[in-house]
Amino acid sequence: MNITPTTENRPRQKDNNDDKSNFVGFANLPSQIHRKITKRGFEFTVMVVGESGLGKATLINNLFLTDLYPERHIPTAQEKLRQSVKIDASTVEIEERGVKVRLTIVDTLGYGDNLNGTENYKSLSNYIDNQFERYLKDESGLNRRNIADNRIHCLLYFISSFTRGLKPLDIECMKALHHKVNIVPIIAKADALTTIELIRMKQTILQQIHDNHIEIYQIPDCDSDEDEELKEKNLELKKCIPFAIISSERTYEVGGKHIQGRMYPWGLVEVENNNYSDFLKLRSMLIIHMQDLQEVTHEVYYENYRSNKLQLKKFIDNDEKQKKLIQEKDIELRRMQDILAKMQEHLTEKQK
Ligand code: GDP
Repeated sequence: MNITPTTENRPRQKDNNDDKSNFVGFANLPSQIHRKITKRGFEFTVMVVGESGLGKATLINNLFLTDLYPERHIPTAQEKLRQSVKIDASTVEIEERGVKVRLTIVDTLGYGDNLNGTENYKSLSNYIDNQFERYLKDESGLNRRNIADNRIHCLLYFISSFTRGLKPLDIECMKALHHKVNIVPIIAKADALTTIELIRMKQTILQQIHDNHIEIYQIPDCDSDEDEELKEKNLELKKCIPFAIISSERTYEVGGKHIQGRMYPWGLVEVENNNYSDFLKLRSMLIIHMQDLQEVTHEVYYENYRSNKLQLKKFIDNDEKQKKLIQEKDIELRRMQDILAKMQEHLTEKQK
């Protein structure tokens, strides 16, 4: 079969002649979800975390069919050693058949390059908290109706396929962030693994997640009245966590079709081939459960942050009240001591 490269190092652009799988997919949502999204539009923020070179930018470009990083500077090995984690947010507006999504991608450049493990995820944790703090301030302000929601709704955590499991830094980082954000684990560059190796790696990661009491995002069950096809699809999504991803900047023309893939001497590895890549499943999961990811962020993680903040405030207020009370008692005591001293003086005077 004749295979010709059609793009070089550029993400595939949305092409109206392509079949429907080439769209981001909002238009193919189950009707109930589609109706809700069409009405309000959506603000959705994804944070991507993983060592540089694992394919984060490529995946994001493939997922949302936009070139979010046209002029990205790839650091040299020396720069990597020096740099701390730099957080970079880019926003794009996607509109597809009437559905509007304001998508923000938060990239974490230099993660994993720093030799001090904690330094790698402390800034991520601070960034997540800062977005909660901003929302909390806006929520208690005057302009409550038009709050921009920049909270992180989903964190795609990239795991290297070369390590065959989670590294100590992956475990530490997930543990530091799992009570703040929905973590979705991803095996990066899954084309480096054979079928058996991939099955084993998924099992190892799930076991490590369980043993370390890490709470990753739980895909919810479908409503009982949802159609059978969606229920089955949802079950498949649940089974394939962690998602094994293959992504690419290139497209090839095969038999008149444009295929996103990676060309090897033995053949073309297709990004959207469900036999060895969970790319389409990850995209479906993000779209079908976008609303749930937002709700969990608001009702669980943000609420945690808010109530911790309130408790801390109460504690500080109580502490201040206590301090004030002690100060008042102190003044009262000194006043009584003065009176006693004066009476004593008076008595001694009289006795003379
Ligand atoms: P980032 O630093 O994590 O954002 O990584 P990039 O997206 O810049 O990708 C780094 C390199 O990995 C590029 O040369 C990509 O072509 C390549 N790459 C991306 N995804 C894959 C993949 O799934 N498999 C393989 N083998 N290489 C990939």
